[in-house]
Amino acid sequence: MALPKLVIHTLRPYVILLSLGMIYLAYQQFKTSEQDADMQSLANLNTASSLVATQIEAASSKLFLLDNTTSLTQFNNTAKRILKHSPLYADVIHVNQETGQYRSVSLQSTDAERNADIIWTPLVKLSAKLAVSSLYEKKPGYWVFAVKYTPDSDNQIWLEFDLMHTTQSLRGLRTLNDGYVFVIDRHTERLIFHPDPSRIGSPSVSYHGGISALIDSGQQFGHYEYYYRDQFKITVFDTDNAFNWVFISGTDRSDILVSSYQFGLTAIFIASLLLISGSIAYLIRQLNQSLSTLNRQTDLAQFKHQFRHILDRFVSHQGVQFCLYDRDNNQFSTVDFHGNSRVVMCDTPLAQHFSPGVIDYQSKAHTDPLAKKLMIQARHYRLPLFSKDELIAVVYIQAMMPTYRTIVRMICDYSEVALANLLLHKKLLSKDVMTQLDNKHIMREAIDHNIDNQHVFFALIDIDRFKLINDNHGHKCGDKIILATAELMQTCFAKPKAISHARYGGDEFCVLFHANDENDAYDQCDLFRLLIEKHAYCYNGENIHYTISMGVTRVRDSQHITVGNADKAISQAKGLGRNQVVLNTF
Ligand code: GH3
Ligand code: MG
Repeated sequence: MALPKLVIHTLRPYVILLSLGMIYLAYQQFKTSEQDADMQSLANLNTASSLVATQIEAASSKLFLLDNTTSLTQFNNTAKRILKHSPLYADVIHVNQETGQYRSVSLQSTDAERNADIIWTPLVKLSAKLAVSSLYEKKPGYWVFAVKYTPDSDNQIWLEFDLMHTTQSLRGLRTLNDGYVFVIDRHTERLIFHPDPSRIGSPSVSYHGGISALIDSGQQFGHYEYYYRDQFKITVFDTDNAFNWVFISGTDRSDILVSSYQFGLTAIFIASLLLISGSIAYLIRQLNQSLSTLNRQTDLAQFKHQFRHILDRFVSHQGVQFCLYDRDNNQFSTVDFHGNSRVVMCDTPLAQHFSPGVIDYQSKAHTDPLAKKLMIQARHYRLPLFSKDELIAVVYIQAMMPTYRTIVRMICDYSEVALANLLLHKKLLSKDVMTQLDNKHIMREAIDHNIDNQHVFFALIDIDRFKLINDNHGHKCGDKIILATAELMQTCFAKPKAISHARYGGDEFCVLFHANDENDAYDQCDLFRLLIEKHAYCYNGENIHYTISMGVTRVRDSQHITVGNADKAISQAKGLGRNQVVLNTF
């Protein structure tokens, strides 16, 4: 298979597969990150609950130590030593249940401890005499919990934990980049631990936002996702501990997404490429469809209208000038809405200045004379349109900013071919097939264009007794004589003195030509008559002589009147015996 074809066949499926592959990899990476985050969160919960359990166990040994003291002084000294050496503990309280007396070793107020709302959870696994309290506010903004030892029915020893210190070791338990562990006391539904110490003692949004409901419904472990402060949070919770606490480890979904973003970005990049190539394909298809309509236009006005419509759709511009070039007359002319052409410039050197396929983006300073004439006053594209090596038109597109050159190139190439075809078609329709002279229709247009010109004359020419030539020598010979007459007419009335030569039909011709006056016009016609008279056409070795009659008139009023006048003159010439010129002087 040829390489371009192979590329066309494989490119699209390749890009699609690549994008899908990258999207799949991104998804897989995302799933892996999600699982990693989940496992990390669970591990963090285990570590957190172990850490807390260790601290509470350590507290119980301290409480046993205090219980073993034999005097009040020894109790106080031991308690002070414990408090002094460990920042984890806030206070030691001794409660005499018999007297209802609460005594703080560090001599603080014991109002908080007397609070009846404190709920005790027995730590049965450690000892039936140990219990852990719910969270309470020892002083305003100072939250604690206590482990209580009840050696007998009269005494209680409390070791209070300073939460600012106790659970701060949990701060190191991170999940991915931004995930962290926090702990809720189920009794008070307040935060026992949070990486932000100022939040300790406050209610938890996520807990109240849904986790509490799951726990109340009987779940000990679980996952919960919620939306908080523009972030999707993913949490794992665990209530399986002796303290009636809820350990929660949460992370942001964006954190998980970040870990798969390389694949995601690549997939987005490839998908964008796909989108861009799709957009380009769409644009090219649209442009091709629009440009193909140019081929269907049957006249210049329609062509120009459609061409402008295409430019309006695909090119940002401030104005378009479409100018045809007639090589025979070296004329640049514009075409109006109705298809009327108007000559704007006769300039051969300028026409030679254009080259096929060269599109220029010109500044105002480099405006050519034709553009100036067409009032092009800003930066513009200049598109010369050629038919083979022949200039057929020039298009000026005023554009402040250059646009995609490919689009301009496509418009130029398409319109060039379409215009060349249209002109060729027009030319074919305007010519007599046999002689290649202009036809009647074109001659009438030419008369119309010269109606006010005093120096333009119109002559009708008819071969005398042509029927006889046909009858005597055959139609083939008649055809040859028609062709010879057409050729002689073009030689005798040479351009540019002659404006148009046409076959009017059958053995009838006409010529539109410049003459100084009526006499000059008559003389030119008579010269032609004489030329034919003297000319002998050699057919099959036989010299055939024939003559013509001519009626000539000045171009006047309208083509109908002009042709009518010439017709009257030629009838007169025939009536007078043929082989003569009659000038209609009105
Ligand atoms: P007159 O001097 O009055 O013009 O006589 P005429 O014979 O030329 O008159 P007429 O116009 O009636 O005859 C023209 C003839 O030309 C009639 C037609 O058969 C013949 N003719 C028309 N077109 C062609 C053509 O293309 N080839 C040939 N060979 N003959 C043609
Ligand atoms: Mg005739």
